[in-house]
Amino acid sequence: MRWESTALSDRGQRRPQNEDAYVLRPEQGLFAVADGMGGHAAGEVASAMAVAAVARELQPTLSLRHGRRRVADALERAATMANGEIFAAAERNRDQSGMGTTLTALALVPRDRVGVIAHIGDSRAYRWRDGALEQVTRDHTWVQEQAEAGLLTPEQARLHPFSNILTRALGTEPTVPVDLVECALHAGDIVLLCSDGLTGMLDDREISELIGASARLEAVAGALIDAANQRGGHDNITVLLARLTPLRSTAAHRHPAARAAPRASAP
Ligand code: CA
Repeated sequence: MRWESTALSDRGQRRPQNEDAYVLRPEQGLFAVADGMGGHAAGEVASAMAVAAVARELQPTLSLRHGRRRVADALERAATMANGEIFAAAERNRDQSGMGTTLTALALVPRDRVGVIAHIGDSRAYRWRDGALEQVTRDHTWVQEQAEAGLLTPEQARLHPFSNILTRALGTEPTVPVDLVECALHAGDIVLLCSDGLTGMLDDREISELIGASARLEAVAGALIDAANQRGGHDNITVLLARLTPLRSTAAHRHPAARAAPRASAP
């Protein structure tokens, strides 16, 4: 199991700053997107704390050496610790009161040929396979609950004025349940992690077509950001793409890595 990956984050057209953050550690098969919220730029603090906890708690060789169970435990622990840290910081600092963040974190587990995902909020993980896009995570939003109750169609939910109301976030309550999802992966599959600045502007069909339009992940990431901005760019936009490559490819990353040190990135 080998992969290549890329990520881009953009402020969008309307927000004064970018409160999204991400982790891109290809040598480890570890990726995450966090979308912060809160006044006085506290959202930026919360999302940075979430991705820092993931980068810290997932030891560099964990997902390469161990199976899905151990990796899921580590991701859950990272999210739980981030929740406690963000909640405590918000209690301490009046400027950060009420801050929170989404977190969608993916670890590739070569032993089991799966991606394990920890998820809170309305950032998303998708799997793209042979031109078909499938959402792997379930949004923790009010509109998602309405859609599941049959009261809104998916498109009505996407465009609803309350679409940004979260039912679950990291850091807003003393404890939070963490969704853990597994995603079976084949050569050629692409996993997309993104903030709602992408999915609020583009529907799944549009996202799928843009992923299929280029073989270069960097070009796909740029095209997704451009399309969301052209549609209005109402929010910060973060896209992270990881593709499982066929064994014969030489461009892909080999693990364990002899490359640059792992790094957590906050745009
Ligand atoms: Ca957002």
